[in-house]
Amino acid sequence: AAMKRGVVIEDDWPGYSLDLFTYPEHYHEDIDSVYIPNGVIMNRVERLAHYVMDDFGDSIVVLCVLKGGYKFCVDLVEFIKVLGRNSDKYLETRVEFIRLKSYLVGELHRNDQPTEELHIIGSRDLSFLRGKSVLIVEAIVDTGKTMKALLKHVETFEPKMVKVAGLLVKRVPNMAENLTDYIGFEIPNHFVVGYALDYNEYFRDLNHICVISKTGKMKYKV
Ligand code: 5GP
Repeated sequence: AAMKRGVVIEDDWPGYSLDLFTYPEHYHEDIDSVYIPNGVIMNRVERLAHYVMDDFGDSIVVLCVLKGGYKFCVDLVEFIKVLGRNSDKYLETRVEFIRLKSYLVGELHRNDQPTEELHIIGSRDLSFLRGKSVLIVEAIVDTGKTMKALLKHVETFEPKMVKVAGLLVKRVPNMAENLTDYIGFEIPNHFVVGYALDYNEYFRDLNHICVISKTGKMKYKV
């Protein structure tokens, strides 16, 4: 079970002081700490690549969820390729991209909650997934609503098998643990940025995963 949860980051983890690492100087006031350093992310992604190699046969279609998943996807696929060159098993990978937008729809639900709808931007037609072994690669799973909707959509194209890799999974009530087959890190319920995760398109260029500061939240608010 411990392996399943990934690297567990406890609620009281303060992160590393910014002075201990390097990062783009213009973000100095916008982040509180280095929550997960880039090197640790890379080491964990390398381990996830091993799990993927063990579970899949000889070919997979990697379905990268943009934009947040692009760094994770690139690094994961790279590690899979390196593993293939250094062993007698080679996993052929095809990479496809999907962009999602889930936003609140005006109409109210029975329980007075606005219903959220999943919108797929770009190719809705994923018929290339039919009969294939699919690995969905997503940067972060929070409530799991997005992933549930995406899985439902993907299943309609009748792939042979579908697994989900989530670099980060948030520890929230009714968390989406069993939606995600490969978890990098289980994190507390903080808003994080960096390693392609953004806040209104900022911070994607930060290589570490960081917790945004009050100043940062104000500065980049839309
Ligand atoms: P869910 O549907 O699981 O609640 O939300 C998933 C989506 O919300 C993710 O794909 C991501 O776009 C966004 N999200 C959730 N938590 C965070 C966070 O801490 N940081 C960033 N940058 N995006 C987040």
